Amino acid sequence: MAGEPQADCLFCKIVAGDVPADIVRESATTVAFRDINPQAPTHVLVVPRAHYRDAASLAAAEPHIMADLLCEAAAVAVDEKVDETGYRVVFNTGSGAGQTVWHTHAHVLGGRGMEWPPG
Ligand code: AMP
Ligand code: ZN
Repeated sequence: MAGEPQADCLFCKIVAGDVPADIVRESATTVAFRDINPQAPTHVLVVPRAHYRDAASLAAAEPHIMADLLCEAAAVAVDEKVDETGYRVVFNTGSGAGQTVWHTHAHVLGGRGMEWPPG
């Protein structure tokens, strides 16, 4: 069923507590934890508890959870004190764009200058 945990999904395992992670925030619908391979001084992933393969799939099926994800990303930025200096929220979608984990996740990146266009 859409949104149900997947046995072979790393982020479902983190949500369930079966794989350890450095969790910084939790809500009824989301979990936020530090990226294991940080690309900036602040690099936190915000994931829905429900399993969807990418941001668009989540938004189409459960738009209120997508809104929760973006609110939690903003709350992470405040917690990490990067809200005033600026931060970037990234959803890599598809392998050509760098997606490697097929459970929706927002990257929250901050604490350094950001280039545009992105690499
Ligand atoms: P993406 O490449 O956009 O799919 O992002 C997946 C992210 O998950 C990468 O930035 C990885 O460094 C990160 N990652 C992979 N395994 C873990 C883990 N066990 N705990 C935290 N972050 C992870
Ligand atoms: Zn999952």
